[in-house]
Amino acid sequence: MTLLEISGLGAGYGGVRALDGVDLTVGVGEFVVLLGPNGAGKTSLLRAASGLLKAVSGRIVFDGADITSVPGWRRVGLGIGHVPEGRQVFPDHTVLENLRLGGFANRRAKSRVKHLLDEVLDLFPRLHERRGQLAGTLSGGEAQMLAVGRALMSSPRLLALDEPSLGLAPQKVAELFGYIGRLHAERGLSVLLVEQQAMTALSLAERAYVLERGRVVVSGPAETVAGDDRVRAAYFGGADGS
Ligand code: ATP
Repeated sequence: MTLLEISGLGAGYGGVRALDGVDLTVGVGEFVVLLGPNGAGKTSLLRAASGLLKAVSGRIVFDGADITSVPGWRRVGLGIGHVPEGRQVFPDHTVLENLRLGGFANRRAKSRVKHLLDEVLDLFPRLHERRGQLAGTLSGGEAQMLAVGRALMSSPRLLALDEPSLGLAPQKVAELFGYIGRLHAERGLSVLLVEQQAMTALSLAERAYVLERGRVVVSGPAETVAGDDRVRAAYFGGADGS
């Protein structure tokens, strides 16, 4: 069953066309990775999916409903959790406050928020340890865990992650991907992951898309994409670092 279906999507910034006729789907419980060079439109695609960037053409369907014109804040409530590039946690708020803000979509169900908070603190023991600390003073890895935890507080069905490994030491990247892999495997969470570390991302994902200049140029099962000559030339020429 398809959870997210993007078809013929076009979007941009003023005169800059960032996405041009993009088709992409994420199935229920599926792990999809989105690759592509700098400026290809990966961030723009995630932002369009979560409602932060307006579609100028095409259609976005989530769980069977057309959400193309649904505002971002309502998409959170529908089950789209977005972990933006660069974490963007609230630096002057504590870890707990950041997590509670993530639970805003569930604000009418106090016991649900409490349950989600316990779950997230259980999943990330380091956040539990640092729960009273200001988010601005966390290490890069801890802040990234907080960004993921905050998105989980809205009980998403789809977790859209924008380069969560950026700026993290290799060991921290492995730890973070371990958590994301577990959320997918154990809870059936659907994942749409933008990642520069192509080899690592492809080893986790079931399917992959490669964007270039706002268009999908390669797509298919992760194994097939990993074996594609263009992908190999672009990512596996020793520059992947994984
Ligand atoms: P990277 O891997 O470097 O993060 P990306 O694949 O995520 O790149 P986007 O950030 O989606 O690419 O950018 C796609 C295109 O849109 C680029 O040409 C970029 O310069 C342009 N762009 C992105 N944000 C804006 C903005 N706020 N205003 C104008 N142009 C923008």
